[in-house]
Parts: sequence; structure tokens; C-alpha cells
Amino acid sequence: MLPIQAREANQAPLRSDPDRVRPVTLRFLVAAKATSGRPPPTPAPERPETPPGRPEAPPGRPETAPAAGRPHLGGGAWVIGVSLDPQQPGWVRLAPDAGYDRGRLDRLRPYDVVRVEARPMWRLGCREIWRPLLHSMRTEHHLKQWQPRRRWLEPYVGGSMCRLERRPARGPSLALIRARDVSGLRLWPDRAPGGVRYRGAYRYRCHDPACPGHEHEIVDWDFLALQRRLTALPDARLRRALRNNYLYRMCAPDRAVAFYVGQADRPTDGFRVLGVYWPPR
Ligand SMILES: [Zn+2]
Repeated sequence: MLPIQAREANQAPLRSDPDRVRPVTLRFLVAAKATSGRPPPTPAPERPETPPGRPEAPPGRPETAPAAGRPHLGGGAWVIGVSLDPQQPGWVRLAPDAGYDRGRLDRLRPYDVVRVEARPMWRLGCREIWRPLLHSMRTEHHLKQWQPRRRWLEPYVGGSMCRLERRPARGPSLALIRARDVSGLRLWPDRAPGGVRYRGAYRYRCHDPACPGHEHEIVDWDFLALQRRLTALPDARLRRALRNNYLYRMCAPDRAVAFYVGQADRPTDGFRVLGVYWPPR
């Protein structure tokens, strides 16, 4: 553990202690749910969350320093979305306390409309990161059709993954990138203990005129969930099922496919595909 002064010196401008910032009501549309594939964080290195209206918890022992400026997002579900507040649009990335109740996040589905009390984590240099008070989280409804989803998500669609990768430490940690073309889905066996059978990566080009092509691993929660549902299939049929769903169905020629991409804990981490946005053209 680092002393607090050392920890803060490593981080982006410290505006305030996030555990002392008053929570506000955050209403957002879940865009994607991903998994880091890593073990869940060790419970309780930080202070417990305080329900709104209660006195703040007394300062605890110094927390373990995040790697380089972003909170620890490893393990369990990793939920991103977009704000539904027309006055404050923007990406939302939930960063729960270590030791959080994973079941509450696991139940969220992409395109759920969610209301939660949350504290902004702006001291970490990313305006999209929020620490939710999970006991306050409510799912209001689910957007079933592409048309209402488009209304909220199309303004976020960008064309250049190349530009994001040129400045990975200074740009946003989340983006929705429309693919010019998707050339393949690479699958390889997952050798990690407790992992699923196959990991996968999309090969695609973005709309940058000089795009040399990208290959980004898929960490979409449903990519793992599908494999768990099909656990009885032999390898070749499982690979075919993954390709049928993630390549031939979602990236069909009549779909305007775009990828939710995000960085993990460190600004220097590469981008990964958190989910697929595939409305009809
Ligand atoms: Zn590109």
C-alpha cells in the first residue's frame, strides 16, 4: 500500500474525495455488459458505501492504489451506458466498490433503463466513471426495439478507432466505433483456470481512410454466457455457434454494426470490445 500522498500524486487532478461527494441520481441506458475475465477484487480495501442521507463513514485505512489513475474494474460485470439526462449527456461507466454485490450488476441487461444513486469519480480524470450505491439501483424498463435505442446511441457513434489508439492515454476510455467492414472472428482456446472454452477477437477496419485494421478481444458478458449455455456441444459445433451469432448474424451485410470499445484499468491498456451494437441499416 502507498501512503495517501503518494497515491494522489500519481493521479489526475484531485477535485475531492469521491467517498465524500454527495451522491446524485443517475439515470442511464445500459449499453453493454462485459467481464474482465479476472478474479473479483479482494473485498473491502475501501470504505463501505454510505446510503444517501446517512452520515459519512469515518475515514478508513488508505486504500490500495489503483494502477494508474482509474479505479479497479477487474472481475465480475463491467457495465457501461449513456446518460439519459438531456442536460448532462455522456458515457457512464459504473465502478463499484471492491467487494460489491455482484448479483446486482449481473442482473442488468443491455438496453435496460436504470436509475441509481451514484458519486462521480472525476478525481480520476475520467468524467464517465461513477461509483454506484448498488442498493439504490432500479431497472425502470427495457428498450426492446432498435428505434428507441438508436435515438440515444447514434449520437455516440464514431468512425475512427485509429484516432483513439493513437492517443490511448489522453482520449476517452469508452467509444462506440462503427466498423467499415468486419473480416473475421478469431477464436482460440482459453487456457486460464476457470475460463470459458474459447476467447474471441474481431478483425475489422474502422472508417479512418488509412486504417490498417484492428483486432480487439471480445469481453462481452453474453459471449461467455452463450458458451456456458452450450457447454454440451463439441468444440467444432461450439465454434460454429459462436461464429453464427457474433459474425454472420450481428455483422451481416444488412446491419450497421458498431463496437462498444473500452479500456480496462490503465489508460495505456488496449481497447477491447465490450459489446456489439448492430441495428439494421
Ligand atoms: Zn482503424
